[in-house]
Amino acid sequence: MTFKELNLKDGILSAIEELGYEQPMPVQEQVIPFMLTQSADLVALAQTGTGKTAAFGLPILNMIDVNRNQVQALVLAPTRELCIQISNDLKGYSKNLDGLRIVPVYGGEDIRVQLRQLDQAPQIIVATPGRLIDLIERGKIKLQNINFLVLDEADEMLNMGFKEDIEKILEQTPENRRTTLFSATMPAEIQRIARQYMHDYEEITVGSRNAGTENVEHIYYVSQARQRYLVLKRIVDLNPDIYGIVFCRTRQETKEVADKLMHDGYNADALHGDLSQAQRDTVMQKFRIRNIQLLVATDVAARGLDVSDLTHVINYNLPDDVEIYTHRSGRTGRANKTGVSVSIIHSKEKFKIKDIERMLKRKFEQQQIPNGLEVCKKQLFFMIERMQNVEVNEEQIAPYMSQIMKQMEGLPKEEIIKRFVSLEFNRFLDYYKNAVDLNIPEHSSRERDGRNDRSGEEGGKQRKKSGVRVRLKINLGSREGMNPKRILGIINDVTEDKSINIGDIEITNKFTFFDVFEDQQDKVIRAFEHAEDMEVAVAKGSKSANENREKPKRDYSGKDRNRSSAGNYKNEEKPWRSRDRKSSGNEKRKRW
Ligand code: AMP
Repeated sequence: MTFKELNLKDGILSAIEELGYEQPMPVQEQVIPFMLTQSADLVALAQTGTGKTAAFGLPILNMIDVNRNQVQALVLAPTRELCIQISNDLKGYSKNLDGLRIVPVYGGEDIRVQLRQLDQAPQIIVATPGRLIDLIERGKIKLQNINFLVLDEADEMLNMGFKEDIEKILEQTPENRRTTLFSATMPAEIQRIARQYMHDYEEITVGSRNAGTENVEHIYYVSQARQRYLVLKRIVDLNPDIYGIVFCRTRQETKEVADKLMHDGYNADALHGDLSQAQRDTVMQKFRIRNIQLLVATDVAARGLDVSDLTHVINYNLPDDVEIYTHRSGRTGRANKTGVSVSIIHSKEKFKIKDIERMLKRKFEQQQIPNGLEVCKKQLFFMIERMQNVEVNEEQIAPYMSQIMKQMEGLPKEEIIKRFVSLEFNRFLDYYKNAVDLNIPEHSSRERDGRNDRSGEEGGKQRKKSGVRVRLKINLGSREGMNPKRILGIINDVTEDKSINIGDIEITNKFTFFDVFEDQQDKVIRAFEHAEDMEVAVAKGSKSANENREKPKRDYSGKDRNRSSAGNYKNEEKPWRSRDRKSSGNEKRKRW
């Protein structure tokens, strides 16, 4: 199929030709004729990067009446960055259509600038929900006359807590509007919105439902938790031309991993919520132009980033939610390119891989963590290949050639090669000289009993401890579904240390209180400093030393404790939260 066959206006055809689009992408082949010829609403399951902006944008641009100075189309998007990008794309597609005006409105920017732009009487508004409501309430935007409404990345908008805002906006729009909803996944809440607010609608799926793009290969490495960073380095070193995002769970972890990578000489930077908008913009721009090769990011901070040609997505930790995995992995393998989604897991998390496999209907391949020799070989031949392909600037090196030749006189070709290789390569050889095997031995007893992620000394037998106990408090209670087993699972996972004795758990609505031995108190509190949305502190007024509390009512160490590790969710709800229980989805997302 060609764009010409789609019956688009000449002004649009010439613009997309100038952009170098040769033929429509699959989502465009399906959506454009539908929107141009049918009157029904549409739900399209498509990932970002599949060409969906043009899919809804081109038919809408085709149908806008440029002589009518009213808002005729509204595109809602979850983030400022996506909003700007959609608006720029639409401006590009419509640059040869006289009189067509598009204005983006989004939070985080001076509203006065947007108020002025709205005075141009745009026919298309691209908006984030919060700012749009603000402008509607100021009487600056009227949606009574819109013909087209697009909800882009609808699942992300819900994840970010925009549900009420979306409903409020939908109520401002006319009954007879045509609605097109794009979503990468189809949680129940999206289906409910579609049923409630859309008329008879068609459903189009680009690629298989809930699946990551076909072009993405999913692999995982099993490692000990404390060696995660070393595994990450091996993955990066094994892929010298990597251009990817390393996803971390928390801001703290993001900072730590990025700092370590930078310290170790990698071309990396961090993107997280503690940065100002300007700092985030700078990092994203550097990454877009490939000044940065590895971006270490939280899910929320990476939301606004749209880069089409990532080679890898690395899950430094698996996310708590299968849908987040889908979003992460969907960032690679875009625009007909192939990509790899890599996960670093510990053996307790294999069940999560199985869950994702089932949801995505894709097989994940477990690979052996490469050893030093493999990494060195890969690096070496990458370098040789670069040398073979390098463009030689004859003219500029000519003045130095005679002196170079003179200095090299008597050095045989083989010797020259060895020396150039060593010059570039000694750093790797040195680093990997004594590299250890990071793979966990298959069926090791430590793995079998779920204690593979701690050292022998720490992870061995639970020692019976005695001493002063301190009462701690965590901001999770029965309203978050806590019970003693769950709390123990969380403490196990966050501290990664089962030798910590936990006693006398008391769960209230908002908090859970528990005892630890005094000498382990700091370890627990410190571990939770890195855990998103969870805080542990000494309980007020309850030093809970032996003088307060003679004996814990129940000691959760030893056998009991091991059974309660986070990996054992047999009869409990899995930590993969169902959409119905999902949180607001902002960076404060809960882990269980
Ligand atoms: P989107 O999913 O809309 O963000 O698009 C992903 C990327 O594909 C963007 O960089 C678009 O400019 C590009 N793109 C969209 N449609 C086409 C097409 N038909 N041919 C080539 N590139 C396209």
